[in-house]
Amino acid sequence: MRILVLGAGFGGLELSSRLSDEFGNSVEVVLIDRGEAFVFGFAKLDVMFGRADASAVRHAYRDIVKPGVRFVQTTVRSIDPVAKRVVTDAGSLDADILVVALGADLDPAATPGLVEAGHEFYTIAGAFALREVLDGFAGGRVVVGVTSAPFKCPPAPSETALLMHDHLTHRGLRAHSEISLVMPMGVPIPPSPAASEALLTAFGERGIDWYGDRAVRELDPARNVAILSDGSELAYDLFLGIPVHQAPAVVVESGLTVDGWIPVDSLTLETAFPGVYAIGDVTSVGTPKAGVFSEGQAIVVADRIGALVRGDAVSAEYGGRGMCYLDFGNDEVAKVDVTFLKGERPVGDMQGPSHAFADDKAEFGSSRLRRWFGAERDSRRRGEGLTLRRR
Ligand SMILES: Cc1cc2nc3c(=O)[nH]c(=O)nc-3n(C[C@H](O)[C@H](O)[C@H](O)COP(=O)(O)OP(=O)(O)OC[C@H]3O[C@@H](n4cnc5c(N)ncnc54)[C@H](O)[C@@H]3O)c2cc1C
Repeated sequence: MRILVLGAGFGGLELSSRLSDEFGNSVEVVLIDRGEAFVFGFAKLDVMFGRADASAVRHAYRDIVKPGVRFVQTTVRSIDPVAKRVVTDAGSLDADILVVALGADLDPAATPGLVEAGHEFYTIAGAFALREVLDGFAGGRVVVGVTSAPFKCPPAPSETALLMHDHLTHRGLRAHSEISLVMPMGVPIPPSPAASEALLTAFGERGIDWYGDRAVRELDPARNVAILSDGSELAYDLFLGIPVHQAPAVVVESGLTVDGWIPVDSLTLETAFPGVYAIGDVTSVGTPKAGVFSEGQAIVVADRIGALVRGDAVSAEYGGRGMCYLDFGNDEVAKVDVTFLKGERPVGDMQGPSHAFADDKAEFGSSRLRRWFGAERDSRRRGEGLTLRRR
């Protein structure tokens, strides 16, 4: 049986490693990604704020040592979900089971002024380039702004505002700087009132201005102002944006999407096409766009494929649960546990923040690297998950 996994991000790596662990060489897993290395989302903040070097947070796919898994670095050009055939720059491939895990693409140019007069920290290139910009920033008005929903990792803009506070404080620039955070939700983490309250308190204590229920529509480069969705304006010296998200064009062109994202059965993660699954950020399954949810969906799909391979009844179902780490800065991390069940109000809980959870977060990264790449790795040693106090 050939299982074709498109995208070697959180979802694709978890799925491939689970299939390898159970079946080794007895199934053929082809894992495709256009990139040469995996980078954790949170590592973008580590590099941007000088906690880790760019070279240390890139995990090369060529290092994958998983029996039965063949990684192919190439770009997917077309997907035929009926024939389960994929055309790539390296040729065409047919699958018995096709899993689309291509994530969300980012479109900074969709927000007028963002490319010319602002910065974004959601792409790898954007986040890594910001390190030099932040080191050279002499203080002033900083705006962290979300341009549209949905967007990946809903806690990341709040974490960025808190880490910016630490960064400016450590450099002696905080007293003559302002930090504003613009987000399209009424509170920072809607499914977890405890996390939202803790964040709003932290913003208040640090003098970070919160602008909820608004998004940034455009930047005016001539006046250095961000124009918000309610028509109000915020002046800035440094704008850090979260760009518009969309499904990769190849996915939209395949006919798999409805209203921009791939609809899937919320329990089985199957698309409308038999033998074609979709997991993670590329779907509209109803969970936030975050790696922990992509991973949880990959586990269910691995179980379902595993049952098919063994000839067992296919029963694994997705429960919509995810646990995220929320970086409050100053080496304090909280654990937020949220569950999204179809037709029900999402529920969430928070523990911390504490120093102990900062260590947990580093181990979270290390454990994934060990599992996905099949080699001993320590992301803490590499700087991932560290906070400013330990620089
Ligand atoms: C600043 C920031 C902080 C974050 N922090 C966290 C966090 O702490 N915890 C958390 O759980 N999540 C976090 N996230 C979110 C997390 O990174 C994503 O939600 C997660 O990676 C999604 O996993 P995925 O497998 O669905 O897609 P991705 O990981 O995005 O993988 C998709 C893959 O598909 C590949 N691809 C796309 N198109 C093509 C093509 N045409 N051909 C070939 N390959 C292609 C891409 O190269 C990519 O590797 C953060 C994100 C950001 C930006």
